Amino acid sequence: MFNTLSRNKEEFISIKKDRVGLYTCGPTVYNYAHIGNLRTYLFEDLLKRTLIYNGYKVRHIMNITDVGHLTGDRDMGLDKLEEEAKKEGKDAWEISKFYEQSFWQDLEKLNILPPTKVYHATKTIKEQIELVETLEKKGYTYKTDDGIYFDSSKFPNYNKLSHQDLDALKEGARIEKNEAKKNPTDFALWKFSRPEDKRQMEWESPWGTGFPGWHIECSAMSFLGLGQGRDIHCGGIDHIDVHHTNEIAQFEAAKDEKFFNYWLHGAFLNIAGGKRMGKSENNFLTLNRAFQERNINPLVYRFAVLQTHYRKPMEYNEEIVDNAKLALDALYNRLRALGKEKGEINQIFRDEFLSAINDDLNFPEGLAILNNLLKSNLSVADKLATALDFDKVLGLDFNKVNQAIPKDIRKLFLEREKAREAKDWAKSDSLRKELENKGYRLEDNFGNSNIYKI
Ligand code: AMP
Ligand code: ZN
Repeated sequence: MFNTLSRNKEEFISIKKDRVGLYTCGPTVYNYAHIGNLRTYLFEDLLKRTLIYNGYKVRHIMNITDVGHLTGDRDMGLDKLEEEAKKEGKDAWEISKFYEQSFWQDLEKLNILPPTKVYHATKTIKEQIELVETLEKKGYTYKTDDGIYFDSSKFPNYNKLSHQDLDALKEGARIEKNEAKKNPTDFALWKFSRPEDKRQMEWESPWGTGFPGWHIECSAMSFLGLGQGRDIHCGGIDHIDVHHTNEIAQFEAAKDEKFFNYWLHGAFLNIAGGKRMGKSENNFLTLNRAFQERNINPLVYRFAVLQTHYRKPMEYNEEIVDNAKLALDALYNRLRALGKEKGEINQIFRDEFLSAINDDLNFPEGLAILNNLLKSNLSVADKLATALDFDKVLGLDFNKVNQAIPKDIRKLFLEREKAREAKDWAKSDSLRKELENKGYRLEDNFGNSNIYKI
């Protein structure tokens, strides 16, 4: 795997035999996840499934940031969660609960395996405060008007993950407003509540009422969830320079131990010719909007993500999605034609597939091997068994292509087809809704309809 720490492909060696401790940074739940975020969660799922396919037992920890970050990267600006609460006229706790729920639903639609354990920022305040206390005792912190800060100049090799030129950063920082910071790369560990903000989420601490800084939760939770088994830490590439760099500095300064051995980062999903999709960019699309509202199975997105290597930028537009959909439909049809009888897993193809995906998650190559398998002269039963084995990692529901749809659903589906042919749109729409209420969604397939389970 390509390790951001060394900027090299390295052989993966786990700390504990046959076990892997994996930490993936979770979402800040002040809005819906967009398909850019979901690209990163898909990449992490492919990594995790690849490890499992190799025989490892994976302990996967994810955090939910259910307390607001500040909108600026550098501890300035507004609190996103409290802002959203004001906008929607709800309280901050309701907001985080609602968007977290929606996040889990998105993951399920994409066949992303749930983490072994999830920690919430608001429920681990004690552990976060303890970590800040340790840093304070060891002399890494200082106090300003608005909070307790980490002095990054006291931590050697602060830029070991980002490889950034710190002198250039200093130059750039002159335009920044936070003048109380000693160094531009210093960051908040604890922020004080300002009376005029009337915060809904705040806690007591040894330094005064306030809320934790942006990065401390992940350092605290990695240790809480993984103990000494801290093998791999992941996120999107935007997390390298600030968030992950600061996680490392805090943790290693507090504990005098290496934080994680491997750091893997996924490239962006772009839109409109190379522009990053982002919440703050105002160009984002949810899974619902980009797929379900167009009556496209969300697994088409999973398939599109599989077709692009995780370290390469990926472009989103409707045409790309339509092409992925055609390709996935064609694949499903080929699998359907194999029938239901399962033979033996072919070891030669399995080994080829395994070595492709073990080469820094080369899934485009993995899909090419699947294609070769289906074209090969193996028996249909062996092809099916082998393809189903690959699907343990691909997660594309190959096992469902020949699954019978329940009778009552099939009946509704056929009725809806009739209504559609007769151009009775009202009836066709109400039948579509009825199917959705029963957990099935129709996919309009260039003239034909398919049905899939939501
Ligand atoms: P956030 O909720 O902003 O912390 O983002 C959640 C995850 O999505 C992080 O791992 C980000 O690095 C990742 N992410 C944000 N924008 C994109 C994008 N356009 N493409 C891929 N990943 C992204
Ligand atoms: Zn994190």
